[in-house]
Amino acid sequence: DGADAETLIKNADIAMYAAKEKGKNKYELCTPVMKNSLLENMELTNQLYRTVGRKEFELHYQPQVDINSGMIVGFEALIRWNHPEWGMIPPGKFISIAEKTGLILPIGEWVLKNACRQMKQWHDQGFQRVPVAVNLSVRQFMDYDLVGMVSRVLRETGLEPGYLELEITESILMEDTKSISETLRRLDDMGVKIAMDDFGMKYSSLNYLKQIPLHRLKIDMSFVQGITVNRKDEIIIDGIITLAKNLGIDVLAEGVETLEQLDFLKTARCFIVQGFYLYEPMTADKISVSLVKTA
Ligand code: C2E
Ligand code: MG
Ligand code: MG
Repeated sequence: DGADAETLIKNADIAMYAAKEKGKNKYELCTPVMKNSLLENMELTNQLYRTVGRKEFELHYQPQVDINSGMIVGFEALIRWNHPEWGMIPPGKFISIAEKTGLILPIGEWVLKNACRQMKQWHDQGFQRVPVAVNLSVRQFMDYDLVGMVSRVLRETGLEPGYLELEITESILMEDTKSISETLRRLDDMGVKIAMDDFGMKYSSLNYLKQIPLHRLKIDMSFVQGITVNRKDEIIIDGIITLAKNLGIDVLAEGVETLEQLDFLKTARCFIVQGFYLYEPMTADKISVSLVKTA
């Protein structure tokens, strides 16, 4: 693929990277799609380096709702990149780049600081006191003083640790579980809550449920979207809810988009939900309108 030696080698290289991404013992042929996505990624990578330190990131907050009372019982902070030329870029497009380049460390700290500051402000303004959930990447657990960073941010913003929930995913358990559980234990000792995001999607080893301090399981939206469509998804959801209940862990269903899904979850006794059917992620200004003053 290419008319001269230089192009041939360059394109062969692109194909090699694509093959490596898919695992070992694979081959790939270079395609225009591959070249474009590589170019796009390179461009995003350059722009991401340029962005850190500027004010192009935004946090949106998605309410978590108790369906029995209809009350907001928490928020998940979700990052967006508001690029001056390309507009709003969703995290799915740039978080993996941030992880590969290590930029997730400054970005992750920015997210935590802003989410905690916002929550503290709402508490101080007399709105109902609810926690904020912040997503963490595996990279933030490796060769990095995560516990130090979290405790510094809590101290600087004044948010009580019990109002911070950190979301991890099962992929974290591929790494050195011992040092990861140690980090999680220290966070737990500080009073910070830990939630397992996208539960059931990555590694089916349930052994970790015994080893790490978990406060909440978040049922992945792919299961929720199978409600009324695929009986197997419904059975898995029931199983996760029972598992969580018996372990004494909270459970939340993500990605609720319809009334049928909500009704099923209610019958299955999963009362905390998050999804477009109730609220989409919103800017802090819009959220202030939905919050109830308690003072
Ligand atoms: P997640 O943590 O599982 O977040 C839930 C995602 O589902 C969000 O997408 C949210 O907007 C979307 N969502 C919520 N309700 C519904 C629904 O009813 N239907 C559908 N189809 N989607 C719904 P978003 O904001 O694009 O984030 C995608 C992922 O990016 C997150 O998945 C999380 O893994 C990652 N992410 C977001 N913000 C951060 C961050 O600050 N740090 C890190 N490390 N990762 C982040
Ligand atoms: Mg999450
Ligand atoms: Mg999730």
